[in-house]
Amino acid sequence: MDLSPEICSSLCFFCHLHQDILNFVTVISPYSLYLHIPFCTHRCGYCDFNTYAGLENLIPAYVDALIREIRYVATTSGTRLPVHTIFFGGGTPSLLPVDQVADILDAIKQSYDLELNTEITLEANPGTLNLEKLQGLKQVGINRLSFGVQSANPEDLRLLERKHDFADVIQAVKWTRQAGFDNLNLDWIFSLPGQSLASWQRNIELAIDLNTEHLSLYALSIEHGTPFKEMSSRGLMPLSDPDLAADMYEWASAQLSRAGFMQYEISNWAKPDLDGKPLACRHNLQYWRNLQYIGLGAGAHGYVGGMRIANTLAPAVYIKKLRNGGSFSWPRTPATATAEPVDSSREMDETMIMGLRLVDEGVSKDDFSQRFGAQLGTIYADQIKKLAVLNLLEDAGNSLRLTERGRLLGNQVFIEFV
Ligand code: SF4
Repeated sequence: MDLSPEICSSLCFFCHLHQDILNFVTVISPYSLYLHIPFCTHRCGYCDFNTYAGLENLIPAYVDALIREIRYVATTSGTRLPVHTIFFGGGTPSLLPVDQVADILDAIKQSYDLELNTEITLEANPGTLNLEKLQGLKQVGINRLSFGVQSANPEDLRLLERKHDFADVIQAVKWTRQAGFDNLNLDWIFSLPGQSLASWQRNIELAIDLNTEHLSLYALSIEHGTPFKEMSSRGLMPLSDPDLAADMYEWASAQLSRAGFMQYEISNWAKPDLDGKPLACRHNLQYWRNLQYIGLGAGAHGYVGGMRIANTLAPAVYIKKLRNGGSFSWPRTPATATAEPVDSSREMDETMIMGLRLVDEGVSKDDFSQRFGAQLGTIYADQIKKLAVLNLLEDAGNSLRLTERGRLLGNQVFIEFV
């Protein structure tokens, strides 16, 4: 039986099975809101995000447009949507003045039903903060911060064209605590050109000393269209060594575990909360569990109403489109560039690929059958058998998850589900 909404929507009024599945995604699960702030003071050589330097003069008009889009989605959805996480990503959201962050959050509170303990994260660059600003952000409702640290080594930071130094990071963490934040993430990058294992180990030791609740560790990826790609194509940048990258990852993983961090995702570690569970980023869990999120802002992506939505990229065009308005049906807005329906087969594949990133939780067999009306072990019998023989995937009773070896070779696993 094909359960995709497009195919059997005429039956849904009567079909309890399908209704239960739709309820699982649309009613039981609250939404997440992603707000893209596409401004940076400088565009770093490795960055392929939709972000722009030198357009800060557009920020007030952009915030106005973002608020229009927030209200547009709320109005066309026809109901007050429940929301449990909000994420200001970028770009550099910490470039926004506190009163503009407050205006955005006020618009969200007026239009959506926020859960009592809604996680509200703001990404920040350490050099863009001071104590007063952090106190202001805390006061208007931000309760989680994520700092782009990348490295403590000045050579690495110069190579990455980051404008802060490690002293800025230490100071920012100190101010964060003074301002009353108790949920702080630091992003780090490894496998940098010229980076030694010893230099990376020093970074991890310093990260542990900063005593934050959460750490994200990413291997540098050289993306098309970036100056790094151009340099590496011309042989001006040493290629990273995959064996060294694996050593860095394994060393960090073991060291963080000794320091009391719990790894819950391929690239993410968190300290335990009072119940002994990792203080995970709940917003990102929404992505990894393949649940619905609304993307707002220039270039933002969403997964909502059974569609993958992508917004127009350029901030000036985004502003114009929201000013012009127009009539678009949920979940589209005037800023929507593409809206691609996701059929149930693709939704299943995406649920596997995203869910297997959760190294401990994996993909829950019960959630899968409740959502799709089919058994995970039946749909993916061939893939599971093949990957289990290669010691990349294991049956953990109620779930399917990566083995230790599978964490290092994740792409080899994910490709089987495409
Ligand atoms: S600060 Fe971050 S978002 Fe901005 S250009 Fe650099 S890497 Fe990209």
